[in-house]
Amino acid sequence: MMNFSFSEEQIMLRKMVRSFVDKEINPYIQEWDEQQYFERSIMGRLADLDLMGVCIPEEYGGSGMDYNSLAIVCEELERGDTAFRTAVSVHTGLNSMTLLQWGSEEQKQKYLVPQAKGLKVGAFGLTEPNAGSDVAALQTNAVQDGDDYILNGSKTWISLCDVADNFLVFAYTDKSKKHKGISAFIVEREMDGFSSKAIKGKLGIRAGNTGEIFFDNVRVPKQNLVGQEGEGFKIAMSALDNGRFTVAAGACGTIMACLEESVKYCHERSTFGKEIGKHQLVQQMIAKMEAGLQMSRLLVYRAGYLKNEGIRNTRETSLAKWQSCDFALEAANDAVQIHGAYGFSNEYPVERYLRNAKAPVIYEGTREIHTIMQGEYVLGYREDKPLSKTLPAWPFKKQREEAVN
Ligand SMILES: Cc1cc2nc3c(=O)[nH]c(=O)nc-3n(C[C@H](O)[C@H](O)[C@H](O)COP(=O)(O)OP(=O)(O)OC[C@H]3O[C@@H](n4cnc5c(N)ncnc54)[C@H](O)[C@@H]3O)c2cc1C
Repeated sequence: MMNFSFSEEQIMLRKMVRSFVDKEINPYIQEWDEQQYFERSIMGRLADLDLMGVCIPEEYGGSGMDYNSLAIVCEELERGDTAFRTAVSVHTGLNSMTLLQWGSEEQKQKYLVPQAKGLKVGAFGLTEPNAGSDVAALQTNAVQDGDDYILNGSKTWISLCDVADNFLVFAYTDKSKKHKGISAFIVEREMDGFSSKAIKGKLGIRAGNTGEIFFDNVRVPKQNLVGQEGEGFKIAMSALDNGRFTVAAGACGTIMACLEESVKYCHERSTFGKEIGKHQLVQQMIAKMEAGLQMSRLLVYRAGYLKNEGIRNTRETSLAKWQSCDFALEAANDAVQIHGAYGFSNEYPVERYLRNAKAPVIYEGTREIHTIMQGEYVLGYREDKPLSKTLPAWPFKKQREEAVN
C-alpha cells in the first residue's frame, strides 16, 4: 500500500536541505549564474551533510535512506537552482545507483563507496555530437587489447565534465550488433588520454558545469567493464530510470520556487487599486502552479514507492519526468508573467527559473521521447521485460536483517 506521509527522518532531511540552500546557495546563485561559474565547494558541503549517497546502502558508504528521500533532496536543491540538483542527478541517480544495480562487488568497493561518501564525484557520458535521443548512433568505440579496452571518441553535453572523477561511459564494442553491441565502462579522469572542456553560453543552468569529454586511446582495464559486453544499452536505459526520477523531483523544486516568488509578488504589487493576487487571471496562474506541483509530486512519489518495493518503474518514471518538467516550465513562464516587466530582468529570480526549466524538458529524454513512450505503452507497442540486475528494494537487505534480529 502506498504511504503518503513522510517519516520523521524525511521531514528532518527536507528541513536540513532547505536551510542549506537558503544559507549557502540562494545568497550567491545570481552571481554564479551571471558568471557561468560552478561553485565546486558545494559538492564538498553536500558530502559533509551526507547528501552524496542518500539512498545508497550504508555498507556501500551511503546513508541507507529510501528512494523518496533522494527525491526530497532533489526537490529542495532545485528550489535553489537547477545546477546543483543536476549535479546530484548525475552523481547519484545516473552513476552511483547504476553501480549499485549493475556493478561488480569490486567496482562497488572501488568506485561506489567513495562516491557515496562524497570523496569522489561521478558523472554519466552517453550523449555525443551526433547521438542524443538516438543512442544507438553513438560512435565512441572500445577495442579489447589484452586485459584492457582502448576507448576512442567523444561525448558532449556532459554534466560535471570538468568536476567529476569517474565517468560511466558508453561505447561500441561491436558496432555490427547495433544497440546490442554497446558496452558500459568506468573511466577515470586520471586515465591517460582523457580530457574535458566546458560549454559556455548556455541558456540556463549557467551555474552548472556542462561540456565535452574526449577519449584519445584511453586504456581502461577490463575490470571496469560494467555488466557484460553488449549490456551497455540496457544499463544506460536503467540508469535513466533513476536519473529521470531525480529530474522529476527537481522539477517540483522549480515549481515551489516559482510559487514562493509569485505569491510574495502578488501581495506586494497593486494595480487598479488592489493586490494583483486579487485579479482572477493572476489567481488562475497561481492555481495552475499549485495543481502542477501536487500532480508532479504524486507521480514522483509513486515512482519512488515502486523503487522502494523493487518494482520496475520505467513507465511510471517516464510519465513523472515528462509531466513534472512540463509543469515546471509552464510554472516558470507564468512566474515571469506575474512579475510583469520586472520578471523580465534579473532583479527577480524568476527569469533564471524560466531559463533553467528548459533544459530538463530536453535532457534525460526529451518531451517528445517521453510522449512517444507513453503512447506506445498505452497502445501495447512497448513493454518492459525483466532486467538481469535490479535496483535493491528498500529497506535494504542488511536493514531488513537487522530489523528481524
Ligand atoms: C544542460 C544539459 C545537461 C546534460 N547532461 C548530460 C549528461 O550529463 N550526460 C549525457 O549523456 N547527456 C547529457 N545531456 C544531453 C541530453 O541528454 C541530450 O541533449 C538529449 O538526450 C537530447 O539529445 P539531442 O540534444 O541530441 O537532441 P536530438 O536527439 O537531436 O533531438 C532534436 C529534436 O528532435 C526531437 N526528436 C528526436 N527524435 C525524435 C523522434 N523519434 N520523434 C519525435 N521527435 C524526435 C527531439 O525531441 C528534439 O526536439 C545534457 C543536456 C543538457 C541541455
